[in-house]
Amino acid sequence: MIKELTVRTSGKEDFVDVTEKVKRILENSNTDEGTVTLFVPHTTAAVTINENADPDVKSDMIRTLNRMVPEDWHYDHMEGNSPAHVKASLVGMSEIVPIQRGKMLLGTWQGIYFCEFDGPRTRKLYIKISD
Ligand code: ZN
Repeated sequence: MIKELTVRTSGKEDFVDVTEKVKRILENSNTDEGTVTLFVPHTTAAVTINENADPDVKSDMIRTLNRMVPEDWHYDHMEGNSPAHVKASLVGMSEIVPIQRGKMLLGTWQGIYFCEFDGPRTRKLYIKISD
């Protein structure tokens, strides 16, 4: 079973917390044990798992990635969005979360973020529940 989640991002860079939406999809699947696979079918967006309690973590990650991947570098890609492509690959297009007793084994402070690097746009996130 593969579900497609629509994610609307705001701003050039944006981390959207999709944890509750993924939880709802898992609950509706009635899966007791297995894995949730998350996959982003884009080249300038990504998915990651990190702290969702303090919003400063999200802005620190965006600011640090912007520092690591400067806008004024010698990029050849004519579309002009090479920093977004580089950041997307650094963060990665997939995550896997184990399921136990019908729940994702996320730590207390962990949340799932859809990461936008060339927004704002309407994006897709694929979610596959396997048992
Ligand atoms: Zn491009």
